[in-house]
Amino acid sequence: MLLVYQIYFTITIFHNIKGDKQLYIIYTHSDFDLIIGSGAFPEAKVIASKQFDENPNKEECIQKIKQFDQGYYLHRSYSPVYPTVDIVVSEDGHKLELDSITMTFYQAPGHTNDGLFTVIEPYGLFLSGDYLSDIEFPFIFSNYKGYVNTINKAENILLNHQITTHIPGHGSTT
Ligand SMILES: [Zn+2]
Repeated sequence: MLLVYQIYFTITIFHNIKGDKQLYIIYTHSDFDLIIGSGAFPEAKVIASKQFDENPNKEECIQKIKQFDQGYYLHRSYSPVYPTVDIVVSEDGHKLELDSITMTFYQAPGHTNDGLFTVIEPYGLFLSGDYLSDIEFPFIFSNYKGYVNTINKAENILLNHQITTHIPGHGSTT
């Protein structure tokens, strides 16, 4: 019950802070724990990879969310949905300019086939999803070779952008 209240509380606070600004959500990949909150933000503009958008197993992702909620007796104030993608990233170096920031996206397959890296400039933020975590060892659900290529790509990102802060999906900010 606490968790339910907490989630509700967080979402309420969030909506107060957000005001009338446009909300963007970047999905780093389609593992169920990462899309579980998507139904709470129907007004958001969604950014994700082409593979995420074309995922043939969308219904399976929703089933995993339902199993998780049933297993922990969770009731949500919204229905879990697979995100509808507004901005589809299909190539490395895809840029999106929003006000004073530039986001650059890179495909990051290996952990899953629909992974996405994001660099946010001028702040030097690197969002790596489920790669480069200090608490989670590398899970390879998609493809080993792809995983190695993605790690090499991460190195190139660090060489080619002025990264100040690395933010993995799980674990510590570096
Ligand atoms: Zn994952």
